[in-house]
Amino acid sequence: MVPLKALGGTSDIFPEESSRWQSIEKTAREILTLYGYQEIRTPLIEEAAVFTSSLGDAAEIVTKQMYLFQDRGGRSVALRPEGTACVVRAFIERGLDKTGGLTRFYYLGPMFRAERPQAGRRRQFHQIGVEVFGSASPYQDAEVILLLTRLLKGWGLEGFQLNLNSIGCKEDRTKILHKIREALSSWQAELCPDCKGRLGNNPLRILDCKEPGCQKVSAGIDLFEMVCESCRRHFDSVAEALKGLHLPFERDPHLVRGLDYYTRTAFEVIHPGLGAQNALGGGGRYDELVERMGGASVPAVGFAIGLERVLMAASGSGPTGEERRQAPQVFVASVSPAQIPEALALAEELRGQGVRAFVNLEERPLKRQLEQASKSVPSGFALILGEDEIAQGVVTVRAMKTGQQEQLNRSELLGKILRK
Ligand SMILES: [Zn+2]
Ligand SMILES: [Zn+2]
Repeated sequence: MVPLKALGGTSDIFPEESSRWQSIEKTAREILTLYGYQEIRTPLIEEAAVFTSSLGDAAEIVTKQMYLFQDRGGRSVALRPEGTACVVRAFIERGLDKTGGLTRFYYLGPMFRAERPQAGRRRQFHQIGVEVFGSASPYQDAEVILLLTRLLKGWGLEGFQLNLNSIGCKEDRTKILHKIREALSSWQAELCPDCKGRLGNNPLRILDCKEPGCQKVSAGIDLFEMVCESCRRHFDSVAEALKGLHLPFERDPHLVRGLDYYTRTAFEVIHPGLGAQNALGGGGRYDELVERMGGASVPAVGFAIGLERVLMAASGSGPTGEERRQAPQVFVASVSPAQIPEALALAEELRGQGVRAFVNLEERPLKRQLEQASKSVPSGFALILGEDEIAQGVVTVRAMKTGQQEQLNRSELLGKILRK
């Protein structure tokens, strides 16, 4: 049989990389806890309606990118393409929309989109995101943005740029869509094929199209000039709070974030080192979504960060430090196979004391075992057990770096290893 391969756009994460993932996740959990967030884990599969009702039927995530299938019961099921809709579904199902309190969740895990694989864009990718329910305050937007930048700094990232915009409330939306259509209808010929279609069902997305022709004709459109007075005040308060926090940002009048459910504040963090796919993450306020998905009217704000991109941007910096501070390491070798059971017991005893222990379980000469030890624990110790050692209650300890050997009582062993 020809060996099987992973599906295009999906990746195996091997140990040399997974330690970086663990480090990023650990840092994130610590920071999120400081801000009062607790983890929610939702299923990777949902009824497709969770996404069509929230993202909108016209959203490209739904029409082009969602993994959609019929399950054995004939239900229409989707692999989650993003986290917010799932968390909102769970929030409503649990009845939390009726409590009137403030709820802060974070999530962490894989998302799925059928995109053309390229650098920083995978079909299974991973996000860390937060959602805050129950606050309409602009200062909540500012705190969420602050948390986003705190996470990036916590992962050792620098030189990123924060972009901010207001895309207006529900009442503004009809007016905004109308104005965009009006402004662009005479320029239809200049628009890319995708944007010609968007003009009808999703004109906001034309504003963040990367095609030069589309950028040129939409350059004069400023969303901020189309939003109502109250949305403008909201934006000003967010901006003022960010200034007070010494968080530099730029107002990007074309920032719309692709998803249908955002209202008012939208933000994005980009990193110049990432090339064309330069967004590390982003989010915004979604005051209408809980109600749109069948819950009470609850304001909310959140963000999501793409972890593959964080790892790309952080390569060579920060997050790997964690893995170097590791427990002392030993390799337990036995002179003959008869001592393997005792070696196994010694390794287990040391693990109980927090020592990372490998143990030889194969019938192989001591010389080969020591070669193995120099690979597994290059800066640690080989602990050698023979018939004599066991009879005298001692262990021969070999420092792998220097090759120096000494015999130690079993009782002295741990202290000695921990001191090194
Ligand atoms: Zn408004
Ligand atoms: Zn376009």
